[in-house]
Amino acid sequence: MSKVLIIGAGGVGTVVAHKCAINSEVFSSILLASRTKSKCDKIAADIKEMHGVDIQTAGVDADNVPELVTLIKSFGPKMVINVALPYQDLTIMDACLETGVHYLDTANYEPKDVAKFEYSWQWAYQDRFKEAGLMALLGCGFDPGVTQVFTSYANKHYFDEMHYLDIIDCNAGDHGKAFATNFNPEINIREITQPGRFWENGEWKEIPAMSIHKPIDYPNIGERESYVLYHEELESLVKNFPTLKRARFWMTFGQAYITHLQVLQNVGMTSIEPIKFQGMDVVPLEFLKAVLPPPDSLGENYTGQTSIGCQIKGIKDGKEQTYYVWNNCSHSEAYKEVRSQAVSYTTGVPAMIGAMLMLTNEEWMKPGVYNCEELNPDPFMEKLNTHGLPWNEQIGGALPHEY
Ligand code: NDP
Repeated sequence: MSKVLIIGAGGVGTVVAHKCAINSEVFSSILLASRTKSKCDKIAADIKEMHGVDIQTAGVDADNVPELVTLIKSFGPKMVINVALPYQDLTIMDACLETGVHYLDTANYEPKDVAKFEYSWQWAYQDRFKEAGLMALLGCGFDPGVTQVFTSYANKHYFDEMHYLDIIDCNAGDHGKAFATNFNPEINIREITQPGRFWENGEWKEIPAMSIHKPIDYPNIGERESYVLYHEELESLVKNFPTLKRARFWMTFGQAYITHLQVLQNVGMTSIEPIKFQGMDVVPLEFLKAVLPPPDSLGENYTGQTSIGCQIKGIKDGKEQTYYVWNNCSHSEAYKEVRSQAVSYTTGVPAMIGAMLMLTNEEWMKPGVYNCEELNPDPFMEKLNTHGLPWNEQIGGALPHEY
């Protein structure tokens, strides 16, 4: 029985709050805090109505360490689940260290003024968390998060050496809007418009954004055009599994999405450089976010499903081995259960599972800063099956994405 503080009340925060409330035997008391308290109150009312559980709410500016420290001290949680934005990772980690509380997030820290995805800033907290006897679990959503658990599970059970890893991420859903992003638009567009990168033969290969693409056949969905992107879990995966000769991340995009994005880029709306507008500094991408539909508003009429998995080729007992593990998640089923679409659902459920394991499983609670592949994957895989994200596997045979 543990108290938990959830920070962030967007699409992902909604799912984490619902899922923690459903599992109240572990999360005995929940405080949901975000910049806008009214959003937390709305989620709390839904949770009361749907699951009969009371949760507390608060307003907090997570960029402000003293404000966070005051909130944490007044509530006294065992851990913080950070599902605000990546910009807040370091301030929340600082507040956790100051108050002696464990930490979990779903996306690596990014400075606001550079679109840069790397773990260096958060890995630098390793000694401070170890010395304080506290744990920080980084990137515990689906990708990053489950994709690392999948890879580590494959490595433990099916390979002596993994050589080729392709993470394949498909959203074959339809939300009926001309253009919207499935998670925070600012973070999403920063991620997609940066150059692509993948690991090959001991070094990073950089490519122009969206320049490598091909159709991949996804289970229960069919072929979808998929693009090589840089994704943050590649950094820790190639460090923790040094036998990997190549590691890539592929994501699907529809043609209409790409056309909208190209136009927005061409007219300067995706820039993070401030411009002067009527005497004020305005960041075009922040303004664009303000006019796009928020991710937590997409759920209601969303149809179709997501499919995210890892396909791996390597060696077992001296012979070539292939392995594919994946989850498919339905947007409408997710909405029925927690009033959120599948992209938020596939992120929020693993965050709840990571927190649950940290609070209840000795193997998953150790001082220091960890990425998801560094812990025993078996209990996590088990909980995916029981908390809404069942997975499938194919051992051997041809992979849907050819090498
Ligand atoms: P949203 O934009 O829907 O929600 C973000 C929330 O953070 C909002 O409630 C916002 O509050 C709150 N917030 C922002 N700044 C502050 C602040 N300074 N203090 C307090 N609260 C703040 O985003 P999502 O829910 O879609 O995404 C949440 C996180 O999950 C992001 O970091 C995203 O990168 C990550 N993610 C990870 C994935 C994975 O698979 N690992 C996949 C998808 C997302 P307000 O509404 O009041 O502005």
